[in-house]
Amino acid sequence: MILADKLIRDHTLAGEEYAELLEAWEDREIRAKLSKEAVMLRKQYYGDKVFTRGLIEFTNYCKNNCYYCGIRCGNSNARRYRLSREEILDSCENGYGLGFRTFVLQGGEDPFYTDEILAELIREIKGRYSDCALTLSIGERSFESYRLFREAGADRYLLRHGTADETHYRKLHPENLSLANRKRCLYDLKALGYQVGAGFMVGSPGQTSRELAEDLQFLEALRPEMVGIGPFIPHHDTPFAEEKAGSVEQTLFLLSVIRILLPKVLLPATTALGTLDPQGREKGIMAGANVVMPNLSPVKNRKQYELYDNKICTGEEAAECRECLARRMESVGYRLVNERGDAAL
Ligand code: SAH
Repeated sequence: MILADKLIRDHTLAGEEYAELLEAWEDREIRAKLSKEAVMLRKQYYGDKVFTRGLIEFTNYCKNNCYYCGIRCGNSNARRYRLSREEILDSCENGYGLGFRTFVLQGGEDPFYTDEILAELIREIKGRYSDCALTLSIGERSFESYRLFREAGADRYLLRHGTADETHYRKLHPENLSLANRKRCLYDLKALGYQVGAGFMVGSPGQTSRELAEDLQFLEALRPEMVGIGPFIPHHDTPFAEEKAGSVEQTLFLLSVIRILLPKVLLPATTALGTLDPQGREKGIMAGANVVMPNLSPVKNRKQYELYDNKICTGEEAAECRECLARRMESVGYRLVNERGDAAL
């Protein structure tokens, strides 16, 4: 309890202290204490608002082979798809009508979408919806590419760092990928003036409190505007098919800790959390999260963007998805708003 109080007082801990505090995630009393503080902080900066992002999963082609991910290039069972320019623009139009004021273009690392194709698309979307924020989540690219996208009008970039520990990173990724490059990307994005989102999976194979402590220290150093965390969930066609899924409670614990570390951070209650627990996203909000990211992809492709097994919201209409989340948020005393939802100043 002493460390929880110290975190609440100082909004920071030393490395060994994080690891020790994280060992206590199963302690209900400590969880309750941290989530109470986290909710107090999120209310102070964001009231009862929950921001939404319309997630457009525009390609499941990927040149990478991350051991945890269902759309890794080595998964020959994945049915691959790419959305056309028109399908992407239709998704935005549909989303705008539903009240979304942020669009997130997410995909595997797909070289088909060259810098030029993407920059044109970004300009088109920002030209049509100047009151909306545009977020990219398309993996690692060069400083020059990021600069081009930024100049084309992209506002935000999501790139979970995955893990901040070198040894752990090697357990999750093949040889050709590097943690150094991942971190380089995040710092480049910051330097270019993007609102940046880092993050990691909770309960990924080989992760202990020590690795999580490093993740928290990395977040403290980077000071991202957004942090995306969700439980690891195995996918049947990956090397991690037989691994155990992460825990909902541990994810909730970490959401609260991150809210206390970075009080103004934009913190989504993720789809993975909703996949492991039917009330997962509501619980995420009650642990300090303030963002939800409903799916805006064409219904015909939703099932194909399968990063992990049993992903939810792959069958409903986009409209229902937003309505469903609005009801869910209201059921726990919060409300979805039709705003860009930038980080509080
Ligand atoms: N290719 C882009 C974006 C798509 S992947 C990128 O690398 O950033 C987005 C995130 O999904 C990953 O960073 C990872 O944290 C998460 N993810 C992938 N596989 C997962 C799994 N099996 N369980 C839970 N989350 C997963």
